[in-house]
Amino acid sequence: MAPKPKIRELLDESACTHNKTKKAACNAPTPGATTGGCAFEGAQISLFPYADAAHLVHGPITCLGASWETRATRTSYPGRDLTQMGFTTGISTNDVVFGGEQKLLDSIAYIVEHYAPEAVFVYATCVTALIGDDLDAVCKAAKQKYGIPVVPVHAPGFVGSKNLGSRLGGEAALAHLVGTKEPEVSTPFDINLIGEYNVTGDMWQYTPLLEELGIRVLSTLSGDGRVASIRTAHRARLNVIVCAKSLISLTRKMEEKYGIPSISLSFYGKRDTSNGLRAIAEALGDADLVARTNALIEREEARLEEKLRPYRELFKGKKAVLNTGGNKTWSIASALQDLGIEVVATAVKKATESDREKAREYLGENGVLMMDPGSEQAKIIDATGAHLLLAGGRSLYTAIKKRISFIDVNQEKKKSYGGYDGLLNLAEDLKNALENPVFKTVAKRAPWEK
Ligand code: SF4
Repeated sequence: MAPKPKIRELLDESACTHNKTKKAACNAPTPGATTGGCAFEGAQISLFPYADAAHLVHGPITCLGASWETRATRTSYPGRDLTQMGFTTGISTNDVVFGGEQKLLDSIAYIVEHYAPEAVFVYATCVTALIGDDLDAVCKAAKQKYGIPVVPVHAPGFVGSKNLGSRLGGEAALAHLVGTKEPEVSTPFDINLIGEYNVTGDMWQYTPLLEELGIRVLSTLSGDGRVASIRTAHRARLNVIVCAKSLISLTRKMEEKYGIPSISLSFYGKRDTSNGLRAIAEALGDADLVARTNALIEREEARLEEKLRPYRELFKGKKAVLNTGGNKTWSIASALQDLGIEVVATAVKKATESDREKAREYLGENGVLMMDPGSEQAKIIDATGAHLLLAGGRSLYTAIKKRISFIDVNQEKKKSYGGYDGLLNLAEDLKNALENPVFKTVAKRAPWEK
């Protein structure tokens, strides 16, 4: 059984340029403000899209409720989509006293018998980590008994942030899955997509283009992923980190162990999609592939420009405030700029140092990087005369009070904004929001209240 990941090592990632500035793992709670998800939630985010695996939460049922199906990660898995199920051992006070290992073993047996998954991910939570249940031993015994990977995921909430949890999820996949199976065939253009979760089908916006170029997605961690393919990931020629840098430790270790280089890119907006495709082709180091990729980019950009023409006039002179987290702080900003919209501010509170640097790059010196968006965004809307607020559902009320248009860009969004066609979806949503009369009228006083 692979050793447990060392939290301190993960917080001291040599491949991260901001290593020195890393602080303590936990998000310190502030009264009246949300701290974001826990490490367990982060681990689930990074592994949950494997629809052919069962995701068993070893803890109280409330942990499952906090994390289950929080984002629309799409799958093309033709079998039973197990992410539609919420599996938990439902630890009770009795188990806290007497231990929950037997219950865990029984739960795995039940799942294997009734659902026949390709693998079982077993997530530790605060309670089961504190009472000292030996996840490794139980998973090892279950793996031997049922002949499928049973993966312990050691990311109980108290160890730190959602971001750290995602890294711990990646560590579990690396320790227990990657390199455990050989692919049937290998090609010189095999890649792994790392940190792409296929939320609202984002990756399906650009994977047909990769396919057209002859680039094969050997495995993903974990959007539309399969257990069998991530087991073969060690044979890829390139790791492509899509937006999320949280899995940088995993790609660094894969480079050390299997010699797979990695690049990091985004597929939001025209510029970044084109740059991303070009970067993959160049990293694969084939001159013919680079030439074909450039031709494809030219064709796709011309097609996109044609379709965007009707929106250009409407977006002229429009300003937007962006309040989201992680890589979206700059990747959505880039997409908005591609549509001709000025991004006057973006929230960087829930972003890494490298995301903040990128946000500064995209917004320029005059753009505001909001460290406390909850209190800043309304003032910035007033000061800049912004026409649009793109944020999570909670900020809808700010938009209503300020009588400006609003779009939900967090995981609750229903459409994909990835790739070239995703930019068209974003343009259509922005147009609908700008033309929606409700934002202008909803906060008006009733005539008799004058
Ligand atoms: S912080 Fe702990 S108890 Fe709360 S949801 Fe996360 S794992 Fe469960």
